Amino acid sequence: MAERGVCFRPRLEALAPLLDKYHQRCYLRDIGIPVPKFTALDLKHNANDLYIFSKFGFPVVLKARRHGYDGQGTYIIKDTQHLEATLEDIKKGRFKATHVEFLLEEFIPFTHELAVIAARSVNGEVVNYPVVETQQQEQVCRRAIAPADISPQVAATIENISRILLNSLDAIGVFGIELFLTADDKVLVNEIAPRTHNSGHFSLDACQTSQFEQHLRAICGLPLGNPSLICPGAVMVNLLGYENGIGDYQEKRQLIETIPNARLHWYGKSESRVGRKLGHVTVLLDNPSRDDAIAVAQQVESIWYPNQT
Ligand code: ADP
Repeated sequence: MAERGVCFRPRLEALAPLLDKYHQRCYLRDIGIPVPKFTALDLKHNANDLYIFSKFGFPVVLKARRHGYDGQGTYIIKDTQHLEATLEDIKKGRFKATHVEFLLEEFIPFTHELAVIAARSVNGEVVNYPVVETQQQEQVCRRAIAPADISPQVAATIENISRILLNSLDAIGVFGIELFLTADDKVLVNEIAPRTHNSGHFSLDACQTSQFEQHLRAICGLPLGNPSLICPGAVMVNLLGYENGIGDYQEKRQLIETIPNARLHWYGKSESRVGRKLGHVTVLLDNPSRDDAIAVAQQVESIWYPNQT
């Protein structure tokens, strides 16, 4: 279609460096954005090459270069025994055929995971949403807390990273940027999602302009909207499948909706699977306290997940 002159926004050239996690890391490094130390690893040919792992020490992170999402294809390897078991699985072909080319990278002992949604217009204007703290369980995002409790310096560093990246890509549209924050306030980029992103879902209810409207504005050549919060704080909780089934969980959804200022979004998927994103809820808060946000998230999760108090 591009060859036939169809206009793509973002341009295909802006997406190309991001599709493969190894190429994405190389691109970020080359434009001066801090990333974890990394190398490429083809496990078909190097499955017995333990030397390469010893360079990074343990824990170490192995990621499928393509088709990974929600922690699928990401393995945090604790020690030699765990490594041998993982390599054994690979040799026996238990991983998908597409998961033979890996990115190997240092484990970052982060104190927090952060994310920011950034948008760039046709005119090159860049706006950033408030940085959020994301909390994952088993490598899947469970919650996003807005705004993240970070220093103005860290916020400025992240703003700068997003500008450098979007300008360098000549990107148009909304991009999600996932980051690690270390104990000494160092910021490293984990991953770029060239699209609207789960960490920006709070913007539907908690911001002047949602990330979805913003994306449409950007790609239609309209002026960008105001990304500010309309309330002092908000917490977004993903409603993940915890069983395989076809229920619509109406009772639980109604209970969650009784939480003051809760806005529930149900995706209407026909089937639930363990870990599948079935919906999310955003609760608007009357203060930006992280503790309050976590307490509200726990309240939602105690309703949603069985066996959780
Ligand atoms: P996906 O594309 O499946 O979301 P990610 O690369 O974002 O995969 O990894 C999922 C999660 O795994 C991250 O949110 C983080 O919690 C953990 N993780 C990934 N890479 C590292 C790393 N280098 N150091 C520490 N934890 C990591």
